[in-house]
Amino acid sequence: MSSFNIHNTYDAIAINKPWIEEEEKREVLSVLDEEALTSPAKEGGKRVRDLESLLEDYLKVKHVVAVNSGTAALHAALLSAGIQHGDEVLLPSFTFVATANSVIATGAKPVFVDVKKEDYTIDVQSIKSKISEKTKCIIPVHLYGHPSDMDEISEVARQHSIKVIEDACQSLGSVYKHKQTGTVGCLGCFSFYASKVLTSGEGGAIATEDDILADKLKMIRNHGMVEGYDTRVFGLNLRLPELSAAIAKIQVIKLEKMLYLRRKNADMLTKTILPLADRYKIKLPQERDEKNFNWYLYTIAFESDNERDKIKAKMLSDKIGVTVYYKPPVHRTPYYEKMFSKEGDALSNTDWASDHVLSLPVHPLVTEREIDRMGESLKNALDSF
Ligand SMILES: *Cc1c(COP(=O)(O)O)cnc(C)c1O
Repeated sequence: MSSFNIHNTYDAIAINKPWIEEEEKREVLSVLDEEALTSPAKEGGKRVRDLESLLEDYLKVKHVVAVNSGTAALHAALLSAGIQHGDEVLLPSFTFVATANSVIATGAKPVFVDVKKEDYTIDVQSIKSKISEKTKCIIPVHLYGHPSDMDEISEVARQHSIKVIEDACQSLGSVYKHKQTGTVGCLGCFSFYASKVLTSGEGGAIATEDDILADKLKMIRNHGMVEGYDTRVFGLNLRLPELSAAIAKIQVIKLEKMLYLRRKNADMLTKTILPLADRYKIKLPQERDEKNFNWYLYTIAFESDNERDKIKAKMLSDKIGVTVYYKPPVHRTPYYEKMFSKEGDALSNTDWASDHVLSLPVHPLVTEREIDRMGESLKNALDSF
């Protein structure tokens, strides 16, 4: 185990990491003891129902329907909203590709919209310029846990009779004007993937106030069935296994605590980086009164060109799991580029962000010493260029 490289004396700091304790293990074992690993019932198994009602309480929303991924949540939400071939769906290109793929899965066409440099969420002016006769839906993505401009987006959507489906996969616990993200649009989608704020490895959920949509979603996650082999609408197997629901259920119970620790780490990191920000032209994440972050990621941007990748490499060599979300942006991936090459109009802020942002870890298991280490590593990297 001995090493001459000083960096190896430190543990690597992951960008995100599941926090599993005794309670999660106990709940998983209880599922195994009961031998009820899943349920084909429309209402789902016992842990699925527990998870849904805990999330309904936390989010203050009428219905939560659990599914087996965030991608499944988006796909099911779009299907329940009637999105289909011939429709256009507006969404940012600066997101995880699942947002766009779920649109493709319905047969509809994704239309990419630019983001704002300020917080990397969808730009309402850009939305207005891309609305057509065919536009049926807008998917704002609360990237990094930054709430999108929901009032302005909802107003444009209302004027054009367009539905709003929130991609809240990164924003569980973020609050927009006293409302949880994912409960502002007609449907909100969450992910419980391993890197997310709350995780069961894989998993997801949809939130809605609408009784009819909730009922449809429960059919869609179960091959459109209600009482056995009676498919009434198109659906798939999107059911969340009981083992996963057991983990997610316990994680909801400790969500407030996890979010508190993220905020604490983010505050410490801000204090550490702030003295460098002016001198080195670093843009820090700006939380505002009406937009509270869950601190899923702590994302900074280097205003100078050609700096980000060098800093990233240096910090990685110090075993700090800094990560770029996302390069390339979706519209520049090979599949989407081929598909939309003719339209290639500029998404200039998306391209800028993709070349300048860097996300730092602030998850609940990051320690105060590790925050200091991150500050030092960043400072050393900046000083060396
Ligand atoms: C994680 C994520 C998804 C997809 O969730 P999965 O659970 O991985 O399917 C969708 N959109 C965004 C913005 C995400 O971060």
